Amino acid sequence: MAIVQSLPPASDGRRRLGLSSPVDGGAVGDIVVSTPEQVGQAVARARLAQPAWAARPVRERAAIIRAAVEVLIARQDEVVDTLRAESGKPRIEAMTIEILASCDFLNYWSRRAKRDLADRRERLHGYIRPFKKLTVHYRPLGVVGVITPWNAPFVLSMNPVAQALLAGNAVVLKPSEVTPHSGGWVVRILHEAGVPADVLQVIHGDGETGAALVDAEVDKIAFTGSVATGQKVAQACAGRLIECTLELGGKDAMIVCDDADIERAAEGAVYLSMFNAGQVCLSVERIYVVDSVADEFIRLVEQKARSLTYGAGDGKDMGPMCWDRQVAIVARHLEDAKRRGAVLLVGGEADTADGLFVAPTVAVGVTHDMELMREETFGPVAAIMRVADEEEAIRLANDCQYGLSGSVFTKDTAKAMRIAKRLDTGSVVHNDAAVIYGVPEAPFGGRKRSGLGQTNGRHSLRGFTHAQPILLDRWQLKRERIWYPYTE
Ligand code: NAD
Repeated sequence: MAIVQSLPPASDGRRRLGLSSPVDGGAVGDIVVSTPEQVGQAVARARLAQPAWAARPVRERAAIIRAAVEVLIARQDEVVDTLRAESGKPRIEAMTIEILASCDFLNYWSRRAKRDLADRRERLHGYIRPFKKLTVHYRPLGVVGVITPWNAPFVLSMNPVAQALLAGNAVVLKPSEVTPHSGGWVVRILHEAGVPADVLQVIHGDGETGAALVDAEVDKIAFTGSVATGQKVAQACAGRLIECTLELGGKDAMIVCDDADIERAAEGAVYLSMFNAGQVCLSVERIYVVDSVADEFIRLVEQKARSLTYGAGDGKDMGPMCWDRQVAIVARHLEDAKRRGAVLLVGGEADTADGLFVAPTVAVGVTHDMELMREETFGPVAAIMRVADEEEAIRLANDCQYGLSGSVFTKDTAKAMRIAKRLDTGSVVHNDAAVIYGVPEAPFGGRKRSGLGQTNGRHSLRGFTHAQPILLDRWQLKRERIWYPYTE
């Protein structure tokens, strides 16, 4: 079953893509693909509209972004219905991961905007100090292109779009072709809250449309997606000498120490590797458990994974996967793991006759020569490896091309801190994982192949600006002391 299919072209000759539900294969709409010319026109309209938007006081822009929370709350059921139709995720996950998290971001950025974007006076040091006055101004970049994936299509669009707008930019959003209408809701809600139409626009299509946006006259690309696409985006941005931030894939490790609360760790392992059907960049994809507690931990993980319900309809713990391409990757990783000696204690099977259902899966006996432990799986799989001690866990956790986030389960906070500081990851969470993206205060971004640049945290809004220092002449002397002619 293909989720995205080519349809006969529209009457004006443009490409059309049809979308199917990952729950039952039924049609859930189609999109007409924006041509490169239309992408260029959208960017040109955005550029014309941006100066007036930037000229509005920050508090006005912040009031609009804050108003979007009210609009979103009023529209939440419609947004959730669209998310469920396109991605199949359970209602509770659409509410928490997408709607609540978006409200948090909108509230946080609108509260911070005035302070973070205000001109800053810097005290000067050195010989120049008495003569000059320095202020730093946070000026918008102009037009920002935002390109987003399908796994959390609403919040991953809302967060960068809201930040770019607050900073005074115009935005052109290209949501994933798998979940275009969920991304489209972001634009609709912000328009209803008061963002002018040309200041925020959406274009639709697949990789070709994304590439056209990068090649258009935008000033920055905020990209979230896979490593392979991120590299293409970075190369194109380098060619145009424009900034990009890349939020890319992960292969997050969870370390279970011998003094962990094993019940909590097992519950966490199941939830954190399987929520959103494992399609989360911050999913727990590798679990290293210290040998002395491994039997108990594995027994509990197996028991809890077995008790999960999955399938169509409300009230299930897990819905379908979102895209047939990803189901194929999960199947390939599991086949490779089994061939190399892994044992699947639970699950492993997929039912893709009508929907894209992959059973919650627990794999043991895994090793680092398996794709399951090296490449991003992005499916509902808990892959567990026994280790002799925490030293080995740290070494294996760092033996990875990705470095998005990581987690440590232990009752000893000081130990958690010691281990965290040795992990080569963008962030680390104690006795939990994944939650870090939803903490707006926490800078977020991957190391190694997991990304470039960071979002969130107290300086995030400034990432959508150019810091322009203006050095004013205080004393207005006839000439500067170091100018010609030189004197002693
Ligand atoms: P993807 O890279 O295939 O696509 C992402 C977006 O890029 C889509 O909108 C797509 O149409 C567009 N695109 C494709 N080719 C392009 C090109 N050449 N130029 C410009 N745009 C192009 O990723 P995906 O499959 O949609 O998403 C899953 C990936 O996203 C996973 O690797 C996941 O880990 C990652 N992800 C990362 C984060 C994070 O914050 N680090 C968050 C969510 C998802």
